[in-house]
Amino acid sequence: MPSYDYDLFVIGGGSGGVRAARVVSGLGRRVGIAEEYRYGGTCVIRGCVPKKLLVYASQFSEAFEDAAGYGWSVGGTAFDWKALIANKDREIARLESIYRGGVEKAGGETFASRAELIDAHTVRLVAEGRTVTADKILIATGGRPSPHEALPGHELTITSNEAFQLEKLPEAIVIAGGGYIAVEFANIFHGLGVRTTLIYRGAEILGRFDMDLRRGLHEAMAAKGIEIICHDVFSRIEKGEDGRLVAHTSKGRALVADQVMLALGRTPNTENLGLERAGVKVGPVGEILVDDYSRTSADTIYALGDVTNRMQLTPAAIHEAMCFVDTAFRDRPTKPDLEDVATAVFSQPEIGTVGLSEDQAATQLGDVDIYRAAFRPMRNILPDRQERMIMKLVVDARSNRVVGAHILGPDAGELAQLLGVAVKGRLTKDVFDRTMAIHPTAAEELVTMYQPSYRIRGGRRD
Ligand code: NDP
Repeated sequence: MPSYDYDLFVIGGGSGGVRAARVVSGLGRRVGIAEEYRYGGTCVIRGCVPKKLLVYASQFSEAFEDAAGYGWSVGGTAFDWKALIANKDREIARLESIYRGGVEKAGGETFASRAELIDAHTVRLVAEGRTVTADKILIATGGRPSPHEALPGHELTITSNEAFQLEKLPEAIVIAGGGYIAVEFANIFHGLGVRTTLIYRGAEILGRFDMDLRRGLHEAMAAKGIEIICHDVFSRIEKGEDGRLVAHTSKGRALVADQVMLALGRTPNTENLGLERAGVKVGPVGEILVDDYSRTSADTIYALGDVTNRMQLTPAAIHEAMCFVDTAFRDRPTKPDLEDVATAVFSQPEIGTVGLSEDQAATQLGDVDIYRAAFRPMRNILPDRQERMIMKLVVDARSNRVVGAHILGPDAGELAQLLGVAVKGRLTKDVFDRTMAIHPTAAEELVTMYQPSYRIRGGRRD
């Protein structure tokens, strides 16, 4: 048997790559990992984690407003963007060193270098100008915001990458897209006092979610003062004489702002990786094609996380990494289970969701019972905030199994994490009915909706 420098070499130090490198090192195997930018990857450095910190920052404006209803008078408030970004950067640097240190403590070797494939067992470390060999190679290079090079003036725009590092907070921003990133950043900027416009090509934001939540969130965002334009796209961006940007749209709008942000999906990082040389095939958007066990078309090479374009979520990449370790290093071939994955949109109000939407259930199951409650959460009453919370259970009428749970409102992400257990555990609605409520909470609605709000039979609402 040929001998290699490593049992495993990982390309990419994000959530998936680091997890695989750390766990395989912990098994006593020789592991190397290379990251060309910063350990932690998109999630830690310029994604989920800094985003959530910005979400927290942006929630204070409403908290100050609501305080009066509870008898508090808050003095003059001021927001310092530079202070927030500096504090955020300090936390990100701390996490980055934990990520890298975790691999090293487990016995792995980390490199600050771009790595490219030379063949199915050989990797070139660009920064070190040398090659290393490995029995198995794992590609976990993630993705990046999709560019929109066909858009005239695209070079004047920013993406989420730059949004985390802006020198100053803009007075006005226009954000294109209707997905997680566009919606979350629209709420962040609005909460920080920025005049915010969202422009989306479709009929309603957040295409993959339950329609009730999509409409409910749209209404809540509009009521706060976020302008949402649907059925329109940018046609050209230009810089005016005053230095501000003008985003022209296909329907003849001219939207003036200090920053224009594109959040139009993400593209897998597969360029110039030497994939062809190593026999690794890619799909239509450049994603690495893998089988159910994260194996690529090259026997010795695996891939996971966003670079495979399966489910672009950090926990999915981590789960795929654990399955990869079982498959490739513990002799227990394990397929990632990406069914009934709970997810949250950190909008304001938040969305938390798991399982089938009403429309999906109607199409897939035909006969469905919908339990739905819409109400003002108690904490909104004294401040006279009109925002409503929506809770919805989608139940298979034949088996009585809860196949979907959808929440719009405060802490929806936290609630959806627990509802994920119930849906994954295939619990039936009568288990919800037998569960004692906790009073007074908003979540008690989930276990006290005894009668269906309406029924769907044969795919149509009764
Ligand atoms: P999404 O895929 O969620 O949304 C992309 C949006 O861009 C869609 O609204 C899409 O419209 C629109 N779009 C795509 N191409 C064009 C175009 N050429 N012109 C106009 N509009 C276009 O991507 P995001 O960038 O928001 O986020 C990337 C991924 O990151 C998400 O899929 C998610 O998995 C992950 N993420 C998760 C978060 C979380 O868990 N909270 C937070 C942030 C990101 P249409 O709907 O019509 O296709």
